[in-house]
Amino acid sequence: MNQKKKLVVVGSVAIDWVITPHAEREESVGGAATYFSMAASHHTPVHLVGVVGKDFPKQALAEMKQAGVDLEGLEVEENALTFRWKGRYHENMNQRDTLETHLNCFESFSPKLPESYKNADMLFLANIQPNLQLQVLEQMNTRPGLVGLDTMNLWIDIASDDLRAVVSKVDVLTINEEEALQMTGSMSLLDAAKEIRKIGPKILVIKRGEYGALLFGPEENDLFAAPAMPLADVHDPTGAGDCFAGGFMGYLCGAQDQNSETLRKAVIWGSVMASFCVQGFSYDTILELNAEKIEARYKEFVALTQF
Ligand code: AMP
Repeated sequence: MNQKKKLVVVGSVAIDWVITPHAEREESVGGAATYFSMAASHHTPVHLVGVVGKDFPKQALAEMKQAGVDLEGLEVEENALTFRWKGRYHENMNQRDTLETHLNCFESFSPKLPESYKNADMLFLANIQPNLQLQVLEQMNTRPGLVGLDTMNLWIDIASDDLRAVVSKVDVLTINEEEALQMTGSMSLLDAAKEIRKIGPKILVIKRGEYGALLFGPEENDLFAAPAMPLADVHDPTGAGDCFAGGFMGYLCGAQDQNSETLRKAVIWGSVMASFCVQGFSYDTILELNAEKIEARYKEFVALTQF
């Protein structure tokens, strides 16, 4: 019997204001941990650590619980507002500018893990200040069997020492192409991958937006390239990277091992969840998924990559 492992995630839970060339949503529920857990919950129950303010919509909390996300580790700060982010996408939807970031309840946030989270089998440190990611890792009673991490350009710019410290302790880094180059000062992704492995993670996933993802497995020269699903209806790319990570880690939670073949499948499961995410605002499309739709998209990926 294939026993699912316990998955904990820490990261931002947010209210976003998203502007694309074709549409705009002002109060869009977002945040790295939100997207991650909504995607991963299609594979395994997820336990979330984070903070929101009094303005965070109750309906979103209910939807997350309904989806199988345990919110015991989510603090509701009655005297503060939720973290807010505003971004605008360029015409090609592959690039975006951050227009505003309001830390709000993050400013004084100090994560406290519920006892039941401290023996998690797997931990994902989704995007949030690197020192908070480190605090969560340090609160674990035993080191989880697999620890993953995601980050963003802001922390590479303003908290690079903290970021390197926490990256040195994880097994998997998922990172955007530009961020991998920026973090390592490299000119090529192969060099960046080499530098990142020197820092610590033995598994690296470089996300390339509409161009897919590259997996650098634990063995030397173990390189796998997955495409992104070509889609005619990309509405909002926000959260695609986090949904990718949710599909990737969620799949690994139910897998027997983490060998090269399993990791490659995990990349495809990540790509499946990211492909759904971009087809709607917030987690709208992820919320209405079922096992049949997910399986059908997985098969489309298989057909797309077989020759
Ligand atoms: P992604 O599109 O995967 O990069 O993730 C988008 C999510 O990241 C949005 O829902 C934002 O709320 C969240 N986000 C933006 N800036 C930050 C930040 N500085 N720290 C944590 N999360 C952030």
